[in-house]
Parts: sequence; structure tokens; C-alpha cells
Amino acid sequence: MRSGARLCLLALSCFLLLAASSDTEQPLHGYSAASSRAQREWETKFRAIPEPQNQRDYMQRLSARPHHVGSPYDKDNAEWMLAKFKEWGLEANIETFDVLFPTPKVRLVELLEPTKFTAKLQEPALPVDPTSNQQAEQLPTYNAYSADGDVTAPLVYVNYGTPDDYEQLARIGVSVKGAIAIARYGNSWRGIKPKVAAEHGAVGCLIYSDPADDGYTQGDVFPTGAWRPRDGVQRGSVMDMPLYPGDPLTPGVGATKDAKRLDLKDVKTITKIPVLPISYADAQPLLAALKGEVVPDAWRGSLPQTYHVGPGPAKVHLKVQSNWDIKPLYDVIVKIPGSTNPDEWVVRGNHHDAWVNGAEDPISGTVALMEEARGFATLLKQGWKPKRTIIYCVWDGEEPALLGSTEWGEAHADELRRHAVAYINSDGNGRGYLSMGGSHSLEKFINGVARDIQDPEKKIPVWKRDQLKAIADAKTPEERKEARDRADLRINALGSGSDWTVFLDHLGIASLDLAYGDEDGGGIYHSIYDDFYWYTHFSDTDFSYGRALSQTAGTAVMRLADADLLPYDFTGLADTIHSYLDELQKLLKTKQDDAIERNKELEEGVFTAIADPKRTSVPPPAEEVPPHLNFAPLQNASDALTHSAERYQKALEKVSSDGQLRVGPAELQALNQKLMQSERKLTSPEGLPRRPWFEHLMYAPGAYTGYGVKTIPGVREAIEQKKWKEADEQIARAASALQDEAALIDSAAQDLENGK
Ligand SMILES: [Zn+2]
Repeated sequence: MRSGARLCLLALSCFLLLAASSDTEQPLHGYSAASSRAQREWETKFRAIPEPQNQRDYMQRLSARPHHVGSPYDKDNAEWMLAKFKEWGLEANIETFDVLFPTPKVRLVELLEPTKFTAKLQEPALPVDPTSNQQAEQLPTYNAYSADGDVTAPLVYVNYGTPDDYEQLARIGVSVKGAIAIARYGNSWRGIKPKVAAEHGAVGCLIYSDPADDGYTQGDVFPTGAWRPRDGVQRGSVMDMPLYPGDPLTPGVGATKDAKRLDLKDVKTITKIPVLPISYADAQPLLAALKGEVVPDAWRGSLPQTYHVGPGPAKVHLKVQSNWDIKPLYDVIVKIPGSTNPDEWVVRGNHHDAWVNGAEDPISGTVALMEEARGFATLLKQGWKPKRTIIYCVWDGEEPALLGSTEWGEAHADELRRHAVAYINSDGNGRGYLSMGGSHSLEKFINGVARDIQDPEKKIPVWKRDQLKAIADAKTPEERKEARDRADLRINALGSGSDWTVFLDHLGIASLDLAYGDEDGGGIYHSIYDDFYWYTHFSDTDFSYGRALSQTAGTAVMRLADADLLPYDFTGLADTIHSYLDELQKLLKTKQDDAIERNKELEEGVFTAIADPKRTSVPPPAEEVPPHLNFAPLQNASDALTHSAERYQKALEKVSSDGQLRVGPAELQALNQKLMQSERKLTSPEGLPRRPWFEHLMYAPGAYTGYGVKTIPGVREAIEQKKWKEADEQIARAASALQDEAALIDSAAQDLENGK
């Protein structure tokens, strides 16, 4: 940061302190002035409780040994946490499920031609790192839910292995048909790489970490620095989770003892081809043995060699075999019963299983959650009585396939649909800025929480720091203006990749995902080096951001649990839906323009004229120009939502104008019940095309991006996949869900208008 900017920041923060003190007079959203004052007192008491030293101690204990699904220490950790919660006086139990979890039996990668090389597939222990030598308990490097297979084939380099990369490959006349594809990590979720490779005819897939994305180009490597060393390997699941997450054998239902299970051969979420992850040390000889065209500029990694596409002459033998065993899951569930609204549940979770020792992922989040629970236990002893029921969940089996949360969510689906107010997730933590993702009906709410949390480094509200970052990062004057002037910071829509998935995407429960980070880069993700030594040397070393996460998530839980009126806001939602609709229209227009332009260039002979005759160059195929789509139903629905949201907002302002909340207790109860269904209205039991498990019609992980979110996914993916009839049908479905949402909000507004 420039020194001038620092001065401004100082002046600003003084101004903010003044602003903040008068702000506290404003009742919290959904509270009367009196209940808001009482609430703020409890929240202040709460935020003083979480202790960095405790988080450090818990982390040292929980990450002391490898604790993946089915390992002895996984169960041991669950029992230790259970005992802690009970020791603090909380009601807690362990819920178990039985799920399919493959572990490696045979792993082999060897280069047969033109030279011989056998990949190590092993991360070495480091003398300075005391837990890195627990080899007997470590899960070897592998990709869970890879198909078994034994293939020998020429190698082809496919960059990140996204659909676009295969289009580029076709332009240089290369196919992966019958080949083994080698893709680098990054740019898409790892499970997409073998999926797309198989769709293009590859018989096997290797995924490696290129130092350009994850290694020495980024910074000094571990143990000197935080970044991935040459033998470090990213483990991870390659299950087709965009189809459905959770136990592959029990889609849609909890994997209880007597659940009906699919035959392994009928499972659709296991990869079609064998796949293994490798280090850049193991990848280098394979890539160096490739010939053929030199790769396009953007495909170059930073290994010290020229990158070629292949195919061959490198010929690779890949063999993968797993033990396809059923393993137990241990979800630790803590319940604090609500005093006046026990049938309204606020659910909070973070997982506890890891690929290996997992200090950052997930324990840095787990320990923050534990300190929240201890904080609540303390407040309960002091007389705090949350109105609503609070449920704290420490999930098992997140890493392989969101197993623990998905099976629990499916097993309790009916109750959750009736009772859940919101789900608040975290999955690890670090040093830096607060990242907020989630349902836009909670955008205003979580912005309000972030205004009340102090950044441990800068001593300004974390909200303010996020806002100033948004100003600094803005790419256009419009973005900068919005960052300065919009009442709330926009929150990210959620795709997949952590435990909110079943709550938001399957059950339609308004969800949030919270974490601090961005100042703590690192390259130990899913390796044996993600451990206590690494975390306490390179991440949130004093656990001050761990405390901030406890304060943030804990305050959010309390504020939701104690509100008189549930603090959803629909104006932010309506504004966001409008922006998604604009994006969809732009997307179609761009596709039309691009197709017209490409066809014209084909006619003009551009591609053949500019191709270097000494290199292979294939003109792209002619494109069908996308037809116009009828967005009118979505535009009307989006307008209806805006009107209802504004009407609700006005009605709420009117009943709460003088610090009172003039709604009778019975009416309030009924209104909360109604509002709780607002996120549910955005779902449809038929779900998305070809993946009915995903019921939310506004947010979903992309079928070809994995973690990456697709908003209004039915429509967006139909356009991307050129399914024009389906696009029109999906517009109608999304519109009808938004109309239902608008009707519910209207009816809530009417209740407020009549309720005084
Ligand atoms: Zn995680």
C-alpha cells in the first residue's frame, strides 16, 4: 500500500469510529429498540470469549495425526470434541452413517518410451516438520472415486483440461482419443478434468501441480516458505459431484445402516477413466518427453523446458486400483434448544475430517467453531436464552464428497425443510480479509454482522476493510462507485465445494459461507504438509483471525437465533437477480455475435490464410447462430420480485418506525414461519435438467466448472450447451419460482400492513 493511501485510511478510520458509535443506537434488523439493546449486550459479552490460545491448543491436538474418513484418529477426534462439548455443559451426540470411501491399493505411473522413468508418488518427510513422517497413517497421494484401470497409451498435454482447452487442441489437430491426458491443477475443479478428458475419448488422466500456479513461481517453497515443494501432491476427490454429492450408493437418502444401496456398477458419479494426481517433480520427465506442436502461449507452465502438446512419443503406463470399502462417518452434533421458538433452527457447521493432518483444511475452521460453542455455553450459564434452537455440526467426510453433511441433510430432510432458518458454513480459515458468500436474502444481514467485527491487524471493522479493498480492486469506474456508494457489499453466490451444498442446493435453506484469508498464500493444500508446523509458521500464526472467525460466525448465529422477526432482506436479492438476468442476456448476445463473426471469417478464408503452413492448424467448425430467446417471463418475474421486496421493506419500516416492532406475538410467529420458506420457494422438487438432486433454481455448481457457481443455472447452462428449447423451458421455470417468491414476500408485506 502506498503511504498516501495509508494516511487517508487513518483519517477515515477515526471518522468511522464516530459513525459506528451512533450506529449502535439503530436497532438491529428484525429487533425492537429494547430487544436490540439487550442483544448487543449479549453479543459484546460473546465476542470477548473466544481465545486464540485455545484454538491453537485444539489445532495441535486435532491435527496431531492423520485423520481421514475411516482412520482411527478421525473417530478419536470426533469423540474428543464430543467430550469437550459435554464438558462445557452442552447437549451433544455423534450421528453415524456408512458410506462408500475408496482408498488406494495400487498406484503406478511409469514412462515406457522414449526413456524410462517411474513416478515416486510419495511426499517425503521433512526433518523440521514433526508430523510429516507419519507415513504409516497417511493416505497415499491419490484421487478418490477414480475408476480402477490399467492403461498404456501416448501422453497428451491438455493445459487445465477444460472444454475450451479441447477446442484449442482441435485447432492444432490433436485429439486425446485413446491417449492419457495430463492436465495441470487450476482453472476448474479437479473432478472436471477426468470427466472432460473421458468425454473426448482419453483412456486415462494425470493431474499435476505446475509451479506456475502452485509452487516456486508463487513464492518460496516449504519449508523455507509457504508454497508447494517439488514433491508436494494435491490429493482430492474426482467424483462427479455436480451430478450429486454424498455417498455414491445412496443418492437422495441418508446412508443409514439399513438404507437401500445401489450396486457399485450402477453408480454414475465415479470417473469413467483412471486418474492420479502427481507432483511437479514427477510430472517433469513426462512433459519433457512430449514432442509435437509447441503449446499455445497461455498453456505454458514454469517448468524449465519447452512445453509440447504431444501426442507422444511419451508413452505412459497408468495403473489405479482402490479398496472399495464402506467406512463409518462420525458427525458431531450439538443442540442448544430454543426458548420461545424451538421449532426454528439455526444450523452452523465446519468439517473435521482431513486428507492427512489438515491443520488449515479444515481444522483452522473447526477450532473457531469450537470456541463459538464454548462461548455459547458460557453465555447460557450467565442467563442467555436464545429464542431459536441452535445446532452446531462438526462434519465428517467432507473431503471425499461432502459425505457427512450430505447424509445428515438427506436423513433429516423433512425436518430441515420445515424448521431451518439458515445454515452458516466455514471450511478452514487464514489471515486477511473476510470473504462472505451465500444467499442474497442474507446479504444485508451478514453485512451488518461484518460491520461489528474488528479486524485484528488494522483495528477497523472487517466490513470497512473489505469495502476499501473492493475500491482498490475495482476494474471500472462503475465498480468503484458501487463499492463506495452501495449500502452493502455484494456477497458471492455459492457454487459447491463445501458443506453448505446439501442445505442450499438440495433443501433450499438460506446459507452463508465465511472465512478470512488472502494474505496467507500457500501450497500445502491437501498434502502431508498441511499441518500444525506449516499453519503456525505461515498462516494465522497468532490465531487472531481464528478469533475473528469465531466472533463473526458466532455473532451471526446469535443474531439469527434471537431476532424477533427473521432478518431476511429481499431488496438485495431482487437487485442481484436483475443483474443475473442482464448477464444471461449479454451471454446470449455474445454467443450470437461470436458465431456470426466466426462464420464470416470462415467464408473470408481468414483461418487458412493466416495459418503457418509449416505448423498444423485446423480451422474451427462453422457455428450455428443461437436463436433469440424469450426472456420476458424472467423480466416480469424479476420486476415482480423488486416490487414485493420494496413493499415488504416499506411495511417493515412502518411497523418499526419508532423503535417498536408493532406486530403481535402470534402474528410474528406466523410471519416468521412464512419467511422461513422464502429460500425454499426458489427451489423445485424436479431439480435441474439431468441432475434432479440440485433443486435450487438460482444457484448451482456448474456441470463443467465443479466448484464454480452458475447462477440461474438451468438457463445459463442451456445457453452454454446450445440447448435452445431447453433454455426457453428453463426461463419459464425460473420465472415461475421467482413469481412464487414475489407472492410470498407480498403476502408477508400484507401481514405487516394488517398486523398493527
Ligand atoms: Zn475443507
